[in-house]
This record gives sequence, C-alpha cells and structure tokens, in this order.
Amino acid sequence: MNFPISPIFEASFENIDFLIKRDDLLDKDFSGNKARKFAWFLKEPLFDIKRVVSYGSSQSNAMYSLSVLAKMRGWEFEYYTDHVSSYLKENPQGNYLFALQNGMKIYEKKVPILLPEDTLFIHEGGRQKEAAYGLKILANEIIKQTRGEIVDIFLPSGTGTTALFLQKYLPLNVYTTPCVADDEYLKKQFATLERDKNEYPTILNTKKRYHFGKVYSEFFKIWIKLKEQTGIEFDLLYDPKGWICILENQEVFKNRILYIHQGGLLGNVSLKKRYERKYG
Ligand SMILES: *Cc1c(COP(=O)(O)O)cnc(C)c1O
Repeated sequence: MNFPISPIFEASFENIDFLIKRDDLLDKDFSGNKARKFAWFLKEPLFDIKRVVSYGSSQSNAMYSLSVLAKMRGWEFEYYTDHVSSYLKENPQGNYLFALQNGMKIYEKKVPILLPEDTLFIHEGGRQKEAAYGLKILANEIIKQTRGEIVDIFLPSGTGTTALFLQKYLPLNVYTTPCVADDEYLKKQFATLERDKNEYPTILNTKKRYHFGKVYSEFFKIWIKLKEQTGIEFDLLYDPKGWICILENQEVFKNRILYIHQGGLLGNVSLKKRYERKYG
C-alpha cells in the first residue's frame, strides 16, 4: 500500500493562525500516527510472520490500527489487556468494536512470556524503532509541503515516538507535551529510542496536571471550540491538552505552528459519550 500524501491546510484558533497536517485523512481505515508508526510492518515482506501480538488499553488507537494491519497482512491478531469493562463488553463501540470486527482476539491477562517464533511483538502504543520508517516519510512530506517556510511543529505525545522521530528527521523545532505522564516519563521513553539528547523534541507543559484518560470539562470545552472555529474534529484524548498547552505557551513559538493531526477519531466515539454523560 502506498500512502497518499495527507494534506496541509491553514486554520485559525483563538486568533492563532496555524497550519495543520491532516494525517487523520491518510486513509479510511489505516490512518493517523499509528499508520505512520506501523508502515514498516506493512511494507516489509516478513514471510515468517503469522500473527501479531500487542498489549495496552481496550480502547486504544494502536490496538485498532494493528487489527487493520493484521487484516491487510492476513495475520492473526492477539491483544492483551488488564481489563475490559462490563460496559464495553455489553456495548462494544469505537476502537474495540472495530478491532473485534477485524478479527482481534482479546485476552484479559498478561502477555505470555514465551511467544511462538512466527509472532511479531509490538510494544504498547507502537513504541519501537521501526516507527522511524513511516515517520521519516511524514517528515519528508512536511519538508516538501511547507516549501521552505520555517514552521514550529507541535503535536501532543503519548509514548513520544512520533515527536521524537519527527525531531530527528526535521530541520525544524518540534514541540510536544506529555499526555500519559510527566516530563520524566516522556524523556525515558525518548531514551529507549534515541541516545542523543540533542535530538529530543522540546517539552512544554500546562499549568494544571491532567491524568490520562480522565474527562475534564476544559478538555470538552476546548474540543468543541476547536470544532466551531476550525471546522475540524480533533481527537478527544490528546489534542485538548495539546491545545491548552499551545494557548498557555504562545510566547515560545517564534514561527507559524504546524499542528500534526494524529487521527484517533474512532476513539472519540466512546469518549464523547462519557463527556456527554458528565457535562451534557
Ligand atoms: C497514539 C496517539 C498519540 C500519541 O502518539 P505517540 O507516538 O505515542 O506519542 C497522539 N494522538 C493520537 C490521536 C494517537 O492516536
């Protein structure tokens, strides 16, 4: 599969004019930064592989994207998670539902220590060196599409894999904010992929600390405002913190911001319901 080049558009939010790279529009099924991170596993022959095994949350974007990858490659897909809530089991939706429809087998236990040799093992969230391949393609697209304009790249981080490799492959400043835990966690994640600290993205923070996966009224408010002012649906898990971070750190950016839309819209289905239940 050859990826189309995802478009870059101009947009404006709270009087900030910025560019946005729409990786959410990459493909109907295989999109966002997970498609970039898993692109290597799609193009490599990997003749000996019969299944892919991974672990993480039962609503994860990576889980869904791996189910698409496995389906495209004709591999089995086994996924390990701590717990699937009874609500989700009774009302399958979002990433969970569509991953099941793609043939995912999900287990509520730890990943077995010994896996058969014909297994491809993927770390939680797709944190692995092979992500470099697809993220280099993303970086090259950005270089071509910005045609020499110096921009400041911004994207919110989970494992930090996307931000790290973009910083490595771009002659531009990459800014990010940790969504899963704090700076120290994010730097540790960077260190698993890259030794040279000079290649790390710049980490920015919000005044308030947020816990990953929790719902906050200010997240829902900024997400709604973003949609109203830009016409774009952003992800509800990472992007609200990303935009709060941009608004609170505006003086840091010396150039027009290029925001990376990393997909994740399937995951919005269940999160949006949680927000609506809580905030109406
Ligand atoms: C996975 C994901 C992220 C985090 O990507 P990392 O490479 O783990 O930092 C951010 N946004 C969306 C929508 C994602 O699906």
